[in-house]
Amino acid sequence: MPLNHSEKISTTKRIAVIPGDGIGTEVTREAVKVLKAATSGRSAPLEFTEFDWGAERYLRDGTTLPAEAVAMLRRDYDAILFGAVGDPRVPSNKHAADILLGLRAKLDLYVNLRPAQLLDAALTPLRDRGTKDVNFVVLRENTEGLYAGIGGQFQRGTPHELAVQEDVNTRKGVERIIRYAFDYARQHNFGRVCMSDKSNVLTFGHDLWQRVFSQVKNEYSDIESRHLYIDTLVMEVVRDPGQFRVIVTCNLFGDILSDLAAQLAGGLGLAPSGNIHPGKISLFEPVHGSAPTIAGKNLANPAGAVLSSALMLDHLGLASQADAVRKAVRTAVREKHTTIDLGGTLGTREAGDWLAEYITKNPA
Ligand code: ATP
Repeated sequence: MPLNHSEKISTTKRIAVIPGDGIGTEVTREAVKVLKAATSGRSAPLEFTEFDWGAERYLRDGTTLPAEAVAMLRRDYDAILFGAVGDPRVPSNKHAADILLGLRAKLDLYVNLRPAQLLDAALTPLRDRGTKDVNFVVLRENTEGLYAGIGGQFQRGTPHELAVQEDVNTRKGVERIIRYAFDYARQHNFGRVCMSDKSNVLTFGHDLWQRVFSQVKNEYSDIESRHLYIDTLVMEVVRDPGQFRVIVTCNLFGDILSDLAAQLAGGLGLAPSGNIHPGKISLFEPVHGSAPTIAGKNLANPAGAVLSSALMLDHLGLASQADAVRKAVRTAVREKHTTIDLGGTLGTREAGDWLAEYITKNPA
């Protein structure tokens, strides 16, 4: 039974688990296994409730995100652990858009947090770069920009057709993600923030980013601030990633940049993300999708999901347990107790077992 609001203020953290489709279900199972190991015997255990929202349910009865879902999640849960959505049987991807984009928008998860931390020098495609050189986070504005879905088409399918997609930048939206970047840098001793835009060309929307950044940075004199146009930034991230700690940017540029960052830090199998509204229920998911071609074969690397669950533990105030999870993944990667994509020999389940066992032997 769902708890009522007053009961939610207990030490137990309630986690809504949405495994979704394809490898989402496989990697989420391992992340839950690891979370249980990391929090067993603690005074603040986790309680998991699984929801079957995904392609299977959509094909069965047409449900994507149930009407009451957002209110129920807000009321009864502290965080969402998400797998992946996407299934070849639903080419329109309707269920995926309703579920994931719906949750991001309706829960107002305005921060997309994507850490890019290289755990083993052998995993980066950059020559002569080590673990100290790739250690930064991308903070992507997650609710507006070109992804606001405002626009239209005129005379579609004719030689005269016109397509318009609006770039929405609000004072509130820009200011809260920039403030989050400075707060994040302060809390994590990262020392510097780089804001990236294209204000030399996008002279209306990104001029707002410029003005807000200039104003907010004055309130954080302890943090070094810098601005780079996005084209310069991507060159610099590849040339010398060590100069960056916190990068904050708009929805579109953040989407592209964070996939580049994921590759520099070892690839999709390892990349975690958080969709966050500070102080409110937030959603944590691996960067990869449902990967239908390897689904159901016990091949998927669960590390991206497991590292996402560490971000969730941070969000829930369980920092030492989060560190224990990250240490387990770091050790697994360095000692090759991994799936084949990272050079190991383990299956998804066995990789999860190894991590859970390591944490049980090396608790927080
Ligand atoms: P979707 O449409 O849901 O995004 P996709 O297959 O297009 O799915 P991804 O799921 O991101 O995109 O995966 C692309 C490829 O990367 C996969 O086919 C797979 O080879 C590889 N891959 C992704 N995630 C993992 C993982 N966790 N472990 C191993 N390989 C992975």
